[in-house]
Amino acid sequence: MRRDQRDALLERRFGDDHAHRPMERIDARERPARSGAFGDPRGILEDMPEHGDEARSLGGVEVGDGDGRHEEVGISTLLVRDAALLATFDDAGRELPGGSLFARDGVIEAIGPAHELPAQADRVIDASNLVVLPGLVNTHHHFYQTLTRNVPAAQNAKLFDWLTTLYPIWARMDTEAIRVSTAVAIAELMLSGCTTASDHTYLWPNGSRVDDQIAVARDLGFRFHAARGSMSIGRSKGGLPPDSVVEDEDTILADCERVIATYHDSARYAMTRIVLAPCSPFSVSDTLMRESVALARKHGVHSHTHLAETRDEEAFCLERYGRRPVELAEDLGWTGDDVWHAHMVWPSTAEVARLGATRTGVAHCPTSNMRLGSGIAPLRALVDAGARVGLGVDGSASNDGSHLLAEARQAMYLARVHEAPAAFDAREILRVATRGGAAVLGRDDIGALAPGMAADLIGLRIDTLAMAGAAVHDPLAAIVFTQPSTVDLSVIAGRVRVLHGALEHMDIEQLIADQNRIARHLVPAS
Ligand SMILES: [Zn+2]
Repeated sequence: MRRDQRDALLERRFGDDHAHRPMERIDARERPARSGAFGDPRGILEDMPEHGDEARSLGGVEVGDGDGRHEEVGISTLLVRDAALLATFDDAGRELPGGSLFARDGVIEAIGPAHELPAQADRVIDASNLVVLPGLVNTHHHFYQTLTRNVPAAQNAKLFDWLTTLYPIWARMDTEAIRVSTAVAIAELMLSGCTTASDHTYLWPNGSRVDDQIAVARDLGFRFHAARGSMSIGRSKGGLPPDSVVEDEDTILADCERVIATYHDSARYAMTRIVLAPCSPFSVSDTLMRESVALARKHGVHSHTHLAETRDEEAFCLERYGRRPVELAEDLGWTGDDVWHAHMVWPSTAEVARLGATRTGVAHCPTSNMRLGSGIAPLRALVDAGARVGLGVDGSASNDGSHLLAEARQAMYLARVHEAPAAFDAREILRVATRGGAAVLGRDDIGALAPGMAADLIGLRIDTLAMAGAAVHDPLAAIVFTQPSTVDLSVIAGRVRVLHGALEHMDIEQLIADQNRIARHLVPAS
């Protein structure tokens, strides 16, 4: 054994820290033998690229030129080997004890026992103390709201009061606020197992643009469906939001065309897609709802909005249109396999059937629905009807966290309370969180681990305090039944984004400081 190899091994044996220390390359075959039923708990063994230790600031507007300058140049193959359990969520639902995965250029090439896969790769991760599964997919969020979590005046409000309290605060946001809050939300999502998310920002004050979010997501290597949200009915036209945060409808449609032309990537394994997303049928005109979904279909992009969130909304719909919310959406062209709605708490039995028959998507956001006292969505019924259903953390001023794995736990338990004691088990709720979310976003290249799928995966240690006495019985279900605080590994498009429970190459302290400075400025102490 060469000296550098011996040093690397020593560091791995005794260096149980989470710092981003550069390590020497090591041949995976020379690793120490595993111990215990689920392998060596001393840490994930890891090959660090020599140039991969560059910390960067996410403060202000410095990040996000989207030029990929932080990419791991030359890293094209990845081997995740000897997982304690590799749960594929493929069509057969295969779970492979000791399974390994080989990916090239961001795409999974092979899955199976390590001896059947290439023995070396540009990056090798020993997953012997990890349960590995596909990255989770978040189908509804408002990244900017991470700046206004837990605002005292909105802590106990129902939806409409909550909105009218927060609109004037959000109206003070600018480009820096959008960029920093986007980075905060993505960081939280990645640490909680999410590898792909859609964000729905529907107000763009003071020169901010969806471009700002896309730049940050690209810089962080995060798979992102940017929903270009909008509102056009301000207070002077009988709407809820102040006029300063609504836009002219021609401006909205023109900007939607612009961002589709600039950013939308319809190719398989796309990192960036655009979604057209008026905030709700009540914050824009019927004409814009129709024109927006028509524009989306013209360009082959998906459409998203809020629907059937509260009883108040249902009453409003019946009074103003003589229609129930899903009936109204159908009238406006807003059902089908290229549309998804956030919440869907109050569909009638007939509406659930219509959503299923039309393969319309639903973003289920249980924590937000509880936080605002909105109600409990009929998750089991929606899935059984054939609707495409995924999870959303929503928020972040109505959650107020962006923890997607915790959302899966919440969804499982709430369905048991609301629908049936055995409504969902851990595997099925994880299926909703992975493949379900992928289907909602219209993707068949993420949500499962199989050859030809994107190399988006997460790993959680099974030798932690939270997992003690749980993972030994069933390591996959343990990640839902217990409460792991973070994932230990996250890989997006074949690149390691979280390692040892920490984000790679991110200056989190600076990010938190920037976020808090901006949040204080938006909501001055009273
Ligand atoms: Zn929402």
